[in-house]
Amino acid sequence: MHKLLKKQIKELLPDGADLESLTPFIEAVEKTYLSSESELQDLRYKLQDTSSLLNKRFQQLTYHLKQTENTKLELEHSLSLLNATLNATYDGIVVIDENNNPVTWNDMFLSMFSLDDSQSTIVISNKAIKDKLMLLVRNPEEFEQSWTFNQTYPDQPSYCVLSMNDGRFIECNTNPRYHQGRNVGRVWSFSDITEIRIREQQAIHKNYHDDLTRLPNRALIYDRINHAIQGGGAQKEEHAILFIGLDGFKYINEALGLEVGDELLVAVAKRLHEDIPPKSTLARYGGDEFILFLENIRSSFEASLAAEKLRLIIEKPFEVKDQTLHLTTSTGIALYPTDGADAETLIRKADMAMYHAKNKGRNNVQFFARELELLTSHRMNIRNSLKRAIDNQEFHLLYQPKVDLKTRSIIGVEALIRWKKPSGQVISPMDFIPAAEEHGFIVDIGNWVLEEACRQMTQWRQLYHTPFDIAVNISGQHFQKERILHTVDHLFSRYHLPPDSLEIEITESVIMNDMDEAIMTLQQLKKMGVNASIDDFGTGYSSLNYLKRLPVNTLKIDKIFVDDITKSRRDMALVDTMISLAHHLNMKTVAEGVETRETLELLTQLGCDIGQGYYFSHPVSADEITHLLQQDSSLETVKS
Ligand code: C2E
Ligand code: MG
Ligand code: MG
Repeated sequence: MHKLLKKQIKELLPDGADLESLTPFIEAVEKTYLSSESELQDLRYKLQDTSSLLNKRFQQLTYHLKQTENTKLELEHSLSLLNATLNATYDGIVVIDENNNPVTWNDMFLSMFSLDDSQSTIVISNKAIKDKLMLLVRNPEEFEQSWTFNQTYPDQPSYCVLSMNDGRFIECNTNPRYHQGRNVGRVWSFSDITEIRIREQQAIHKNYHDDLTRLPNRALIYDRINHAIQGGGAQKEEHAILFIGLDGFKYINEALGLEVGDELLVAVAKRLHEDIPPKSTLARYGGDEFILFLENIRSSFEASLAAEKLRLIIEKPFEVKDQTLHLTTSTGIALYPTDGADAETLIRKADMAMYHAKNKGRNNVQFFARELELLTSHRMNIRNSLKRAIDNQEFHLLYQPKVDLKTRSIIGVEALIRWKKPSGQVISPMDFIPAAEEHGFIVDIGNWVLEEACRQMTQWRQLYHTPFDIAVNISGQHFQKERILHTVDHLFSRYHLPPDSLEIEITESVIMNDMDEAIMTLQQLKKMGVNASIDDFGTGYSSLNYLKRLPVNTLKIDKIFVDDITKSRRDMALVDTMISLAHHLNMKTVAEGVETRETLELLTQLGCDIGQGYYFSHPVSADEITHLLQQDSSLETVKS
């Protein structure tokens, strides 16, 4: 370097110039050059480093920019997806932040509550939503409660149903929302459940109402009563349960058909409903039974007043399908808390009281009394043992001879039923026939008696050839045209008996119950050749007028008139009159309860045709009758 510099300087200098004197200068130049050379080199290195660093930074930035761009796109996509989802649902949705201010909402939310989006966020402040909803709902307390709950427990979900003034039901759910573990507000969703509610209510209405009368049914009245009892709490309110039964409705239904029956029930329900006191519930309990529940009565007198009022209302005639129908009611009343602490007990006791009212002659009102309970359990025992008696064939017949007072020979028998319990105890028909009628067993029993009597009669007819008949007692319920005619017809074809070998005994009360119907049935029986007689004549509502219309062959004069004819001129005159009355009407007479020879003689003198009583024979078994029949048939001979 030094030599090269020297050579270049020498060439620049004129010839002969002293080069050596320039050496310090050259050395200084040389030194400076060398130092800048190294600095330059340093600089060059530094520049290289910086450039590669920048390059790297640039690459990183470009990468980040790209990523941000992607994220933005993704966000935009999610947002539009969210908006589309929010607007595609039928639910109204609003999202609020931790300060209770709405963050986002969907169109459905706005339209559901008629909120205005044009005024946008100003209108949709949290407070505005609440205030608006409070105005729109019928149950603001419920909504307020839900709202306050959310404020107090921000981490809890909540639920309520808004009943809107316009009739809609809106189900309202809220859930807290979190970001990185921190509560950042909540999401409210609102669903219009009006249709579901209406359908639910219709289903509930159907389950709780009677299809025919549209009145509340059994299930609803139980609910109402129990609800009122439970709602009463410590302050014991008094309630009354009125059990209203229609008297004789069953017969209307049977006689005039179900259609008339149904229409009548609807009319009764309507009439009752129009006159029930406020704060009371009228329900159809079943068939022809209604319940009126009187809540919070001041005294039992209030209940009896209401019952009396309804009784009188139903007494007025009903016009159904161009017919005028008359009804009466029997009502039983049970009181809460005196008679029971729940709907079931109270209804049961009101029912017992109604039964009591029916037994007291119908068309009246009775309160429940403790004694009725004992009576009812007794009735139920009888019912159960009667049922068992039918199933186990615990009945048998005894026969009491009927004697011709002129010839003193047996001209027939009366079949009299006996019930022999498994214990050996024999029950009189007087004690169980009324119970059998009450519990609906009488037709089964009556048919059995008819069948047994006919079966026995065929045996006797083979032994005994002179005219001889068997009389069977038929109760009112059994003596209904279709039933009795059908049974008798069936028996004749089965046992091949001459029709006049059977006599049907019915009492005056059976005839008076429905005289036209009775006359028609008797006429039909007469056409078939069957004889009929009026039993216990003189004890019922005797009316000369009805007697002449009746197609019957015989009057059976009751024992109470026969008993004293030998001692009382009055009784003798009465029996005498009955005999001549019967004869004028072409009927025969049977004197019941002939116990002495004197009675027998007097009856014979008075011209009575037939006698029946202990004087001749007690009711006896079929074998004993067979025995009597075989002995020349003259009971008077046997006795004397
Ligand atoms: P009823 O048809 O008037 O029968 C006459 C009743 O008087 C019988 O009582 C008979 O035993 C009784 N009797 C007969 N002669 C005398 C007498 O000289 N003195 C006294 N003190 N009594 C006498 P029973 O058998 O106890 O029957 C009572 C009632 O029960 C019958 O009165 C009848 O109404 C009814 N009954 C009897 N059997 C049947 C039946 O199979 N079906 C129906 N539905 N009722 C029946
Ligand atoms: Mg009789
Ligand atoms: Mg009698």
